[in-house]
Amino acid sequence: MITRVDRAVGAVLGSAAGDALGAPYEFGAAGELSARGAEMAGGGGWDPGEATDDTQMAVLVAESLLECGGLELPDVFRRFQRWAAGQPKDIGLQTEDVLTNGASWELAAALHFQINARAAGNGSLMRAATSAVYFAPAGQEGTMDAARRIAALTHGDRAAWEGTAILHELVRVALEGSDPLAALPVTLAAVHPDHRERYGRVLAADWHPGLATEFNGAVWPCLGSAVWALRTTTTFAGAVRAAVDLGGDTDTVAAVTGILAGARYGRAAIPEHWTAPLHVPLPGFGGRVLDADDLRTLAQRLAAAGSP
Ligand SMILES: [Mg+2]
Repeated sequence: MITRVDRAVGAVLGSAAGDALGAPYEFGAAGELSARGAEMAGGGGWDPGEATDDTQMAVLVAESLLECGGLELPDVFRRFQRWAAGQPKDIGLQTEDVLTNGASWELAAALHFQINARAAGNGSLMRAATSAVYFAPAGQEGTMDAARRIAALTHGDRAAWEGTAILHELVRVALEGSDPLAALPVTLAAVHPDHRERYGRVLAADWHPGLATEFNGAVWPCLGSAVWALRTTTTFAGAVRAAVDLGGDTDTVAAVTGILAGARYGRAAIPEHWTAPLHVPLPGFGGRVLDADDLRTLAQRLAAAGSP
């Protein structure tokens, strides 16, 4: 029997594990993880088990939610800015621009979108594990709304908000012990009408990553690939390995897959040799580094404190 807390820990820890597993293969070709064989061995500037910006930002969101006792968007934004100023090894292009363009929290992302017109990267999906756990008790509307607001801090394009809202809702369903794939039609019905059709395409049962029309650093194929990985495998490790083996934005596609697969299969399904070396540096926050135990505790606290 997998408890709700096991699933919550699975989502948070599973996302971090996917992030660290995929990091050495970022922007590589498909199949590199399988070809190399060794897992969590580091590479590409990453130490074995080192989590990247995906997990670092998820931790920042978690700590803001817990310390503020709810969603305080200016506080989350301030933490993101402090982190960005701490010179993280990796930071998304859009995210970096938004956090350093000098505009206030409620204008920065919109300003970036206005100037660049393209802001549908996967950078708000990748950090959603912690907020998805925290807001699950708020129900479908509550968790999707929170996802949109957190996404909008760094992404001005509504496509990124809607993708993150879908992910939040699929996690909510999985935490209840239900099948997130079966919830796709109901979830799509709650997506903004302007974005429903495009998400319907990448989340359809017959879609696969080979049909993607953009690089998987974009929000649509990233979410579609994570759902595809969940659909076409039967274990946590199988899903996350399939995500990394897609190549491209491997850390983020695997981090998003890890959220869903972790919520579905629970924390005990995450391989021990993935969690043992796992660690999350937090640039800008006094040299703190979280390990797997810290992530477990954080997830348990999020699950316990979750918005009513
Ligand atoms: Mg990353």
